[in-house]
Amino acid sequence: MKPLIIANWKMNPTSQKEAETLFEAIKKGVKSVKNTEVVICPPFIYLTVLSGLALGAQDVFYKEKGAFTGEVSVSMLKDLGVEYMIVGHSERRKYFNETDEIINKKIKESLVSKLKVILCVGETEDQKETKSQVLESQITKALEGVSNVNGQLSNVAIAYEPVWAIGTGNNCSVDEAQKSILFIRKIIANLYKREIADHLRILYGGSVKAENSGAYIKEGNANGLLVGGASLIAKEFIAIVKSAN
Ligand code: PEP
Repeated sequence: MKPLIIANWKMNPTSQKEAETLFEAIKKGVKSVKNTEVVICPPFIYLTVLSGLALGAQDVFYKEKGAFTGEVSVSMLKDLGVEYMIVGHSERRKYFNETDEIINKKIKESLVSKLKVILCVGETEDQKETKSQVLESQITKALEGVSNVNGQLSNVAIAYEPVWAIGTGNNCSVDEAQKSILFIRKIIANLYKREIADHLRILYGGSVKAENSGAYIKEGNANGLLVGGASLIAKEFIAIVKSAN
């Protein structure tokens, strides 16, 4: 399994010129990296002007088209050549009331058109004691009614992102990340079967930097990383990509 390194730019940078400069610098820096899949998830409006690396969206709506002001559909993203979409990010759960039910609808709609899904799950600081239940509930509800018809689960990756580690500089220990990844694989094996769980990509996200990135993959058994803040610094993100190799 090739490591999957996702850059989540969130609502950055603030101009198209800066977005293009950052993208081109990353593109140049990762050109020689062959055994790692790199995906850039910029704000929607930059998806039309960036090319040369795989692209992902930070969100999508679950209806095909119509009177849904402000929303973007799966077919619109596919038409632009976008390959991935992030769903269930803790910032969307917190600030935009994205519920497990909405997440489930977005996943179903995406998989029909083979838009690959990065499902984010993770416990908040207050939920640390009940982490297992939180992860089980988020994953079970997100995948409710999602079967492996046509092998569509191969288009799903799960990012374990402890909320307390996102954007705080307080990254999760490799040991703890490894245990959570193993637990997520167990949830998938229970929901589907062992073989599907073994092939599902499970990433780690939360204050990843070049200095800690390699360990999550080499020692923590993560199949990739979801990188926020550090993906806005070309040199840092390139080093993260290289550390996964
Ligand atoms: C994220 O936004 O998914 C994330 C992990 O952010 P950061 O790397 O900044 O913690």
